[in-house]
Amino acid sequence: MSNALSDVSFWFDSVGDLPQADIAPLPDRLDVAIVGAGYTGLWTAYYLKQREPGLRIGVFEAERVGFGASGRNGGWCMGAAYGVQPLLDDPATRSRGVTLARALFDTVDEVGRVCQSENIDAHYAKGGTLNVATIPFQVPYLKRHLEQLYRTGFSERDYQWLPERESRARLAMTPNHGALYSLHCAALHPARLVLGLADVVRRQGTHIYEGTPVNAIESGSIATQRGTVNAGAIIRATEGYTDTIEGQRRRLMPNYSMVTATEPLPESLWQEIGLKERETFGDPRRLVIYGQRTLDNRLVLGGRAGYYFGSKRHRSIPPDDPKVVRVKALVTKLFPMLEGYEITHGWGGLMGVPRHWRPCVQWDTRARTGWAGGYVGEGVGASNLAGRVMADLVTGRATALTELPWVNDQ
Ligand SMILES: Cc1cc2nc3c(=O)[nH]c(=O)nc-3n(C[C@H](O)[C@H](O)[C@H](O)COP(=O)(O)OP(=O)(O)OC[C@H]3O[C@@H](n4cnc5c(N)ncnc54)[C@H](O)[C@@H]3O)c2cc1C
Repeated sequence: MSNALSDVSFWFDSVGDLPQADIAPLPDRLDVAIVGAGYTGLWTAYYLKQREPGLRIGVFEAERVGFGASGRNGGWCMGAAYGVQPLLDDPATRSRGVTLARALFDTVDEVGRVCQSENIDAHYAKGGTLNVATIPFQVPYLKRHLEQLYRTGFSERDYQWLPERESRARLAMTPNHGALYSLHCAALHPARLVLGLADVVRRQGTHIYEGTPVNAIESGSIATQRGTVNAGAIIRATEGYTDTIEGQRRRLMPNYSMVTATEPLPESLWQEIGLKERETFGDPRRLVIYGQRTLDNRLVLGGRAGYYFGSKRHRSIPPDDPKVVRVKALVTKLFPMLEGYEITHGWGGLMGVPRHWRPCVQWDTRARTGWAGGYVGEGVGASNLAGRVMADLVTGRATALTELPWVNDQ
């Protein structure tokens, strides 16, 4: 036993030893082959087995379960996704946008429900999320946005304005001029979720072939670095690493986000900072920042970072990488009371950005191949919904989920 992923993120560093990689002999034939053992691949496997327990499913993972963004993210399980707002803005698509938005709200509860029913100890806490105005002009901007949400049909149960005093009482971030609060978000421990989900999927009878990079996907078969496997249906769930597959180089642009974690902070300091309900928080700046209070009382703060020259990919990002250091500097800028406390971890991970900046669930009924992703850094919740949609598509069910606007939206 060892943990070869401890350098990948604080989350992996905190879970102790991992079992040896599962590099079992390859099967000749499967009903469904899934490429990628992150949330998307694993949720798809999970719901496929729920719908048809007899299916023979294999998940093929180049590295280890959770190696990608799923084991590295900020742990916001959010009831939102890229691409919903433009649907809400256009009267012609508004009602479909509302349906998608509501499906994403419900997804936060669905993730909590499965964690509870399947005994996945992912430190899930639905404390909602605060979008904090850190510059005065963000106040009217956020208020206008809130009014627009109310006009669209959402209510105070979904979104509320917290004036400065109330917002500061929730989160002593500096500055804090008020916040747009939404109930539809949970904080969780990303690696515990992905590892726990993998255990559940294995218990359902699905094999996860780790250390098995897939080079090419065709209708009816995948070519892995260890041989070819035939399958009746093939799903690609490779997100920021999609360019490793033949012919898919330009499908999703790999883009980095960086995260930091402090040492566990004393309760007296949390009395001052707030986040009693483990609310997640961010602000409306263009390069998104995101934070949460972990169950062991650390402050985790992340920020979008961009590319490395030539879209170069790194297995792990060291804590002294300049892009990580920039996020570290934000910690004491936003929380001056943390001066003198140690930032013990800094890491980064790859997100997948589609050309139209909207996630999608794609399924070709004739070729029986499909893919899901393109979450642009907002996939912890959305991947669960995508998994349910994909399971319906693969098993030929026409449901409310398969009518969602992100199905076959390319
Ligand atoms: C630093 C960071 C912070 C984030 N924070 C948040 C957040 O707080 N909230 C939120 O909603 N979203 C967040 N995200 C985004 C979220 O983590 C992702 O959208 C989500 O995890 C995507 O899951 P996935 O399974 O589609 O992709 P991944 O988790 O990236 O999984 C893809 C898997 O496929 C494997 N793979 C790739 N190519 C091949 C191949 N050729 N053969 C075999 N296997 C292959 C990879 O090794 C990887 O394990 C963040 C992302 C990052 C990087």
